[in-house]
Amino acid sequence: MKQVAVIGSGTMGNGIAHAFAQSGYTVSLIDISDDALKKALNTIEKNLGRQVEKGLIQEEAKKKALANITTTTFLKEGIKEADLVIEAATENVDLKLKIFREIDENTRPGTILASNTSSISITKIAASTKSPENVIGMHFMNPVPVMKLVEVIRGYATSDAVTKTIMDLSRALGKIPVEVNDYPGFVANRILMPMINEAIYTLYEGVAGVNEIDTVMKLGMAHPMGPLQLADFIGLDTCLSILQVLHQGFGNPKYAPCPLLVNMVQAGHRGVKSGNGFYKYTPGSKDLVVADRFKRS
Ligand code: NAD
Repeated sequence: MKQVAVIGSGTMGNGIAHAFAQSGYTVSLIDISDDALKKALNTIEKNLGRQVEKGLIQEEAKKKALANITTTTFLKEGIKEADLVIEAATENVDLKLKIFREIDENTRPGTILASNTSSISITKIAASTKSPENVIGMHFMNPVPVMKLVEVIRGYATSDAVTKTIMDLSRALGKIPVEVNDYPGFVANRILMPMINEAIYTLYEGVAGVNEIDTVMKLGMAHPMGPLQLADFIGLDTCLSILQVLHQGFGNPKYAPCPLLVNMVQAGHRGVKSGNGFYKYTPGSKDLVVADRFKRS
């Protein structure tokens, strides 16, 4: 396997492209807008530069990794030579089904089709293709170049051979893969999202402020980041979509998204990527500043 296509160049897509390019794979990074692709390449360059500064890689390795990446807004063009396609577009089931139908029609037989979805059924995605045995979940964690885990999700029809290839490939990237079955939220988000949702309810009900909630979880539970900061980091729109999948998939009200989260997403407050969420984010500043509307006097 040499040639990888990554669809979607946002928070996750640029990290996935970075990880593969750094491991010597040729990567075609695809998005719907040139601006998104330009932003993604800047992010990859900045993150590789940070690895050089920390002495983790040499300048030469940074140059090689960047040279391994090409970008395009033409999906068919970007995927036609791929041995593996990883879809990392927005967490929306209709969008993913549409993308997989298009990938299925425009890749060579035997190409492995993976989704980085956080919660959407791999079995459902696979059923939109002619070869569901070649479809699998490859759920990277954010930030991809740093985080070791890959949750590998077997759909109902995923073959043993494809699962083994993806487990081996994840190890070749320096990651630690864990194989799980295909149920809503898989393992990672089935456990993480109810905690994030509960943290948002705790804020919504006025039990404590943003800083207080995150501090309790950081100092009390030794979490490296509080749940509200983590929600901003993941993307509030992504968190909402995952909770909706859990809610619908299990039919259990315990997964119902907090109305505050729904309001924030409707208002366009999507966390780090939009510059506003539970905290506000100023480019170039590392300070963690609580958003004005959540400031306590
Ligand atoms: P994002 O909003 O940062 O980026 C999504 C990108 O997809 C955008 O650049 C958008 O332009 C692009 N896109 C939309 N439609 C497209 C299309 N038809 N073709 C090509 N590109 C298209 O989202 P993200 O956080 O990177 O999430 C991507 C996927 O990864 C989702 O399925 C999400 O659930 C999953 N995921 C996210 C995280 C996280 O922490 N954010 C972690 C693990 C998995």
